[in-house]
Amino acid sequence: MTTDTEKPFSIETQLIHSGVIRSQFAETSESIFLTQGFVYPTAEAALARFNGEDPGFIYSRYANPTTQMFEDRMCAIEGAEDARAMASGMAAVTSALLCSLKAGDHIVSARALFGSCRWVIENLMPRYGIEFTFVDGRDLDAWKKAVRPNTKLFFMESPTNPSLEVIDIRAVADIANGIGARVVVDNVFATPLYQKPLQLGAHVVVYSATKHIDGQGRCLGGIVLSDKKWIDENLHDYFRHTGPSMSPFNAWTLLKGLETLAVRVEYQTKSAARVADYLAESDVVSRLLYAGRADHPQADIIRKQMTGGSTLICFDVKGGQKAAFAFENALKIIRISNNLGDAKSLITHPATTTHKSLDDQGRAEAGIGDGSLRLSIGLENPDDLIADIERGLKAAAAA
Ligand SMILES: *Cc1c(COP(=O)(O)O)cnc(C)c1O
Repeated sequence: MTTDTEKPFSIETQLIHSGVIRSQFAETSESIFLTQGFVYPTAEAALARFNGEDPGFIYSRYANPTTQMFEDRMCAIEGAEDARAMASGMAAVTSALLCSLKAGDHIVSARALFGSCRWVIENLMPRYGIEFTFVDGRDLDAWKKAVRPNTKLFFMESPTNPSLEVIDIRAVADIANGIGARVVVDNVFATPLYQKPLQLGAHVVVYSATKHIDGQGRCLGGIVLSDKKWIDENLHDYFRHTGPSMSPFNAWTLLKGLETLAVRVEYQTKSAARVADYLAESDVVSRLLYAGRADHPQADIIRKQMTGGSTLICFDVKGGQKAAFAFENALKIIRISNNLGDAKSLITHPATTTHKSLDDQGRAEAGIGDGSLRLSIGLENPDDLIADIERGLKAAAAA
């Protein structure tokens, strides 16, 4: 969204105004078009629409006005030409990967992944003859060495869930471009505010909109963004005919979420930075990872490609699972839940929840120990959160 002669509006403004399609009633807030289909004034008009000569809507599995508003707003803030909104983050990841691959192709992926993303690559894709190699995403030589003549796609998440490893997106994209492969980045942890993978050389960005974009724990959603050519050639037909579409009601909820995304994420990030500094001082904490701190192992890469530390903290308490459970059970405000990016602060013990299906080696590779906890900072008063964490640390020390 741009004015005629001046610079583009800033992201905070785009989050509120971009992509609005007003009906004949000129409503202020976006309308929810809860309709499966659309009617045509004449048989000839229906023919023209199916021929693509009239750009109107056909069926909500293909496109819907409310869903399109969400897609257009996301394109504006991401700097993408086109997008398809999906029912969940996993529908978006699976579609982004499968739509461009066929039997005999090879994918190279960073191994520290959200559990379901790992399952799709490790268990689903091989059933259809798609080969994969997992690498330590931080090791650029490992990406280079994993390349085969049939490598078509690189996939990564950065920062990773839960251990907040950071991958040099531009360097990995350079390797992919050298062999004509495409790069798909799952940008959930950075949020659209703090990292722009398309500007760093990636070709496709995916989000679970369930996280910060809704940010209020209400609905699932996902989106795939890229240039128009990639969407037309790879995703357009796949999307229409396999049906991972987002419900218009969820698209409306997520449009409302986008309106407040910047204020929420910026406030949550400020609180997260305070909480991370507080945890770093504790004797009970043996490891602390936060993308906004100078002691993050990849702080130099973070400075190059991220503009904020985000709302997630990963830390280990001394005393393993027993101490981690004692920490969680002593909390009064922070709730035990595997969601993240929410208005409510949430904590999870990845080894026994989100990453339980991994074996010991898989967990070690993902940087998850018995005492590891992933903390998603919400919108509560940070003083209250720190008091809550103090309760947790006392309980962990006594466990
Ligand atoms: C939550 C999450 C997903 C999956 O999203 P859903 O909306 O739950 O399907 C994918 N990737 C990452 C990094 C996530 O955190």
